[in-house]
This record gives sequence, C-alpha cells and structure tokens, in this order.
Amino acid sequence: MNDYMTRVLNDVKRRNSGETEFIQSVEEVFKSLEVVINAHPEYEKVGLLERMTEPERVVSFRVPWIDDSGKVQVNRGFRVQFNNAIGPYKGGLRFQENVYLGIMKFLAFEQTFKNSLTGLPIGGAKGGSDFDPRGKSDFEIMRFCQSFMTELYRHIGADIDVPAGDIGVGSREIGFLYGQYKRITGKYESGVITGKGMSYGGSFVRPEATGYGAVYYMERVLEHFGEKIKGKTFAVSGYGNVAWGVALKVAQLGGKVVTLSDHTGYIYDKDGVITDEKIDYMLKMRADTSGTIKDYAEKFSVPFFPGEKPWGVKVDVVMPCATQNEVNMEDAKKIVEAGVKYYAEVSNMSTSNDALDYLKANCDAVCPSKAVNAGGVAVSALEMTQDSIRYNWSADKVDSKLKDIMTNIYEDSVEAAEEYGLGYDLVAGANIAGFEKVADAMMAYGIV
Ligand code: NDP
Repeated sequence: MNDYMTRVLNDVKRRNSGETEFIQSVEEVFKSLEVVINAHPEYEKVGLLERMTEPERVVSFRVPWIDDSGKVQVNRGFRVQFNNAIGPYKGGLRFQENVYLGIMKFLAFEQTFKNSLTGLPIGGAKGGSDFDPRGKSDFEIMRFCQSFMTELYRHIGADIDVPAGDIGVGSREIGFLYGQYKRITGKYESGVITGKGMSYGGSFVRPEATGYGAVYYMERVLEHFGEKIKGKTFAVSGYGNVAWGVALKVAQLGGKVVTLSDHTGYIYDKDGVITDEKIDYMLKMRADTSGTIKDYAEKFSVPFFPGEKPWGVKVDVVMPCATQNEVNMEDAKKIVEAGVKYYAEVSNMSTSNDALDYLKANCDAVCPSKAVNAGGVAVSALEMTQDSIRYNWSADKVDSKLKDIMTNIYEDSVEAAEEYGLGYDLVAGANIAGFEKVADAMMAYGIV
C-alpha cells in the first residue's frame, strides 16, 4: 500500500478504534485499490480516500418498546448514511443481537461499492438495531418496528434514503415498518422502503433476488472454466432468505445444495435441498423465530452436526450465506483440503481477510460478496423504479433484468482487474469497478 493509503488507513484505525469489522472492510478494499490510486495522484490532493472512508451521517437512537409481559425494553437503533455521490442512500436494516456501530459502518461502506457495481443510481447506507427477533411474538416484533420507525422516518425518503431488509428483517418486518411510516407521515410514499409485499408496491422476484443473483454470477464464473451448475454440489450456510434463494435457483439449474446451517450447527442432506417440500420448509423455518436448523434434520431424517460449520464437506462450490467472518483461516484450510474449486461469498464479508487471501491463492475462483450478493439491492432499485412509474413489471422481466445486471457486474469486474494488469482477480476487479464510479462523481462535486 502506498504512503497516502497507509496514512488514510492509520487515520481510519485511530478514528474508529474498536470497530473491527469496519476497519477490516476498509483494509480489504484498499488492498485492491493501490494500482488505481497510483494512477490518480489527483485523488490525494482532494482528500478523496479520507472523505470516502468517513460516513456522511450517522444516526443513533433509543428504541423503547413494551414486551408481551408489559415490561419496558430498550434497544439501540442506527442508520449510517455513508455516501450518496451516485444516488439516494440505499441499504438494508439488520435486527440482530450483535449489532453495533462497527457492523453498521462496515455494511454501509461495502454497500457504497456494491450499489455502484449494479450500474444503478443508488448510494450506500445501512441501519438496524441490537434487537433480536428470535423467540419474539409477532406483536412484540410489530411494537419494536413501530418504535424504530418513529425515529427513522425523519431521516428517510424516496429521494433521500431508502432502507430494505437484511438479517432479521424480512417481509413481515418491512410491512410493520412501512405501515408505521405511512401512519406518521400520512403519505403513501411506497418508494421509501423496498422489500414490500406484492399487494402494496413490492416487486416480483425481490425475495429471491439475492440468492438468484448469486447463482447467476456463479454461472458466469463456471462458464469461464467451461463448466455448468448442472450436476454440481454446493455447501451453503444459513437457512435464511438468501440461502433459500440460492437453494431454489441451484435446484432449478440441476445442481444441489447439500448443507444448511445456523448458529447451532449444520445439516448434511446428501440428496440435496431440491424438492419443493424442502425448499418451502426453509421459508417456514425462517418465519418461525423459535426454531433451529435441527428441525430440518429431524423432519427429513438427515444428519445434524451440532456446533460445527459446513466447511470441509466435499463439494464443488462453497457459498456462505449467513453472516460476516463465518469463514476464518481454519475454515479456509478445510475448504481447500476438501478440493473445492469455486468459492463465492454471499453473506456480506463472509471471510476474514487472511482467509480470503488463502482461498484466492488456492481455489480457481474466489468471488467477493459486494459483487455476488448485489442482485438483492439491484432488484430493490428496480422496485423503486416500478414504484415511481406506478406499474409492476412481470416476474420474467425482473428476472431477466437481474440476470443482465449480474452478468454486467461479472464482466465489469473481470475487465477492471485486467485493465490494471491483475489477471482474473474477481475480488480486486469488483473493488476497482465499484470504486471508480463513486470516485468520478465525488471528483465532479468538489470538496463536499
Ligand atoms: P436471514 O435473517 O434471513 O438469515 C440469516 C441466516 O444466517 C439464518 O439462518 C441465521 O441463523 C444465520 N446466521 C446468522 N448469524 C449467524 C452466525 N453468527 N452463525 C451461524 N449462522 C448465523 O438473513 P439474510 O438471508 O437476509 O442475510 C444473510 C446474509 O446475506 C447477511 O450477511 C446479509 O447481510 C446478506 N445479504 C442479504 C441480502 C438480502 O436481500 N436479504 C442482500 C445482500 C446481502 P440463526 O437463526 O441461527 O441466526
């Protein structure tokens, strides 16, 4: 890393001390950018990297709500509006016990480059709360969402900032959040949030989009190696929204997902999560906040491995779909030992930085989350377009646009890495391609 980047990185570390995920994500992006920064000395003069690594706005707020026993509960809410150089802030809301500022900032920073990669006019943001929906009743979740929106509504808008779902925030939560927004503002501003139900301004294919997009991206990668999804086996973690979309699309294309997991362990289904019954059961488990992945093992009589992750199972493709840093160095070694050739992060920053380097050195293709999972936000942006024209495109039309967008992301990443002499490096290519568009816009605005 050159002197300018080292100085900025040291400042980031000092200013965001303790926010380890955010620092990790800046380090990972910077690794790819040295060639670009060297080619553009003008960036240093205008403090581009300093500005790009500091969020434009961070909101932190109290979320009081009353549980079913009448007890007052308090959680902490966040919205990090990182960068709106190329469009309104856009990024999901995460409700999970471990949420704190460092996770919000890393997700919003990553989102800025991911949204740029989609080619659509959307900036980067993220939000959420340390509220854990697991084990809560529907009414508790509703009361929490209403209280959360009672503060958030003043920071968002169709042309300002457009939240969506993420871990712990699915269609039920989006319904409660939008219902409260509508009630407070008295406006039917459906473009203010995405991931909505089809009866009130949603888009076809949005629930499936992240998983489908990830598989479309993997199709392009396999094509590069003269291979196909058909007949391939996949190890997937999580059993949430994203894992479901991956399992469904892989099954449609003739491959099979053989593992699913959660924080309690993983299941191995040698026949694959390919039948309608199994895939629909994933949706049921996701909606029922009291279950665990062991329920799948019991229902379909497959082995359950408590306390273990699905890495090390012999498969062709590994696609982590649960959470950040779910693949560390030890896991990466198991993946390589199992002979896996293709590795694609689907959860945001699935891999620790050292493990990512190891996998890059030992697998045929390593694909970064900001490219692989961009299909979700891309279809969210298509939902915004449909909201603005008050018209729903067909599922086929949205799906075909999603496929085109994922192909463009793949091709732009390949070209960006080649342009800078880095070869077939999908990680560097995605970082560079995502960075360049945001950098161009920021250069045009002057120092703001
Ligand atoms: P969900 O809440 O639907 O599912 C998350 C899944 O991951 C659950 O099965 C959960 O199990 C598991 N999980 C969460 N934390 C851990 C952990 N520490 N260890 C093991 N398993 C864990 O979330 P999504 O499917 O929506 O999101 C998954 C990932 O994809 C996240 O990184 C998210 O940021 C990313 N993503 C999601 C998009 C979307 O459209 N939804 C878009 C782009 C990225 P448990 O119940 O045990 O917590």
